[in-house]
Amino acid sequence: MPDYDAPYRLLIGGHLVDTAARLDVINPATGQVFAQCPSAGAPELDAAVDAARRAFPAWKARGYAARASLIARFAAALEAERDPLAHLLTREQGKPLGQSKDEIARGATLSTGMTKIEIRNEVLVDNAERHVELRYQPLGIAGIITPWNAPVNLAIGPLTSALYTGNCAIIKPSPFTPLTTLRIGEILRDIFPAGVINVLAGGDELGALLTAHPDIAKISFTGSVATGKKVMASAAGTLKRVTLELGGNDAAIVLEDVDVADVAKKLFFAATVNSGQVCMAVKRIYAHVSIYEALCAALAGEVRKARLGDGLDPATTLGPIQNRRQFDRVRELRADAARVGTMAAGTAGPDGGGYFIAPALVIGLGETDRLVAEEQFGPVFPVLPFTDVEDAIARANRTRFGLAGSVWSRDIRRATAIAEQLEVGTAWVNQHRHTMANVPFGGAKESGLGRTYSRLGLEAYLEPQVISVLKSP
Ligand code: NAD
Repeated sequence: MPDYDAPYRLLIGGHLVDTAARLDVINPATGQVFAQCPSAGAPELDAAVDAARRAFPAWKARGYAARASLIARFAAALEAERDPLAHLLTREQGKPLGQSKDEIARGATLSTGMTKIEIRNEVLVDNAERHVELRYQPLGIAGIITPWNAPVNLAIGPLTSALYTGNCAIIKPSPFTPLTTLRIGEILRDIFPAGVINVLAGGDELGALLTAHPDIAKISFTGSVATGKKVMASAAGTLKRVTLELGGNDAAIVLEDVDVADVAKKLFFAATVNSGQVCMAVKRIYAHVSIYEALCAALAGEVRKARLGDGLDPATTLGPIQNRRQFDRVRELRADAARVGTMAAGTAGPDGGGYFIAPALVIGLGETDRLVAEEQFGPVFPVLPFTDVEDAIARANRTRFGLAGSVWSRDIRRATAIAEQLEVGTAWVNQHRHTMANVPFGGAKESGLGRTYSRLGLEAYLEPQVISVLKSP
């Protein structure tokens, strides 16, 4: 189990490894560096690839049930270490401690949930002449590149998919949030054979090296659309398989028959959980004109109730923005929206160097205003009225993003018919942000490529192989 007082180390071939190069890690609630960790480059990547290559044949040969039982041990260890890991996650990422605990518990649940999915060979032909079977072979080494908003969850989904299907893995967390992943590396080291999983903290250049490495067969990338395009271009050099989980600009369409107070609570949470830094957060709300004012008033009430502060403070409901670059971006979008529209803002965060942005809703914006057209990834969101639902659907779809969306109504049949018209990977009815191990999640349009979770997600780590036998040679 992790030694939380020990220096942070990379995990390569079962060994905890240091490097001369260091990464400074900032606590976003203070803006101060609170820890350092190693920073891997090409030599560490080559060593990790070498270790994974050596571990692969035995790992592949183990079979699904044996691999699932090790994944179950890992999930149990995550649960057991939930509190100290969550504490560290909040210090490096900023989210309230309860949300960090949820992230870790959820990682464990999704992980074991995925190992309940059966991947079976299929007999396609079996007659007097021949026997033809479709089998699924692991690809080899998967490179897993994660962002800073949910570093644990977004590592564990792809990691479980890779390991369960018989692949080895190299995880590279964001340089903004490497620490919890490195401690999880220490847990993984106790459970899995050496080399099966390697954890390399490092900068963006390390991500680029992974995507170009000739001996890595698959890249699972979670992050921005712009970087996702670079990943795909670089992976093309060796025709790596890629799963891309990218950004979103999720619309919530609220019809005239809802319980306004109840829906306002749910929408506020879905828009501002983790201070809005969630790929599938609600990022635009379209409200029917007959309930628009009441919904804005109820949402403004929720905004005022929020308590902005250090995620380790039990009174905090909203933490800081995770890093300076994103803080500057959200401030810019907020200022731009305030110039054009009218803002109802919550109370400010603590003074000092923390990256705090008070939550706010903004009305009076048009479709081309930046807060509506771009992914804000922050706790400031627009509310827009509509009279004709066809118009709301068209506006919701008028974007290059296509991650998810939701429709809210007491009339489930009507809401479902509207949900079907959203050009997204997931369309929810009367909920937002719900995922499960056996339900595929991923983006349409520029929100991604492929799916995570579910059988579809697992197949993305497997190569279909036909074995065709002529019975009488
Ligand atoms: P980012 O694209 O800047 O970075 C993500 C990761 O990619 C980091 O580990 C980074 O070091 C690495 N990286 C940077 N340049 C690279 C390159 N050229 N090649 C390979 N790797 C490289 O994203 P971010 O700012 O960390 O994350 C925020 C974005 O992630 C938002 O757009 C959000 O919507 C998206 N996201 C999507 C999902 C999803 O499931 N669809 C989930 C969470 C976050």
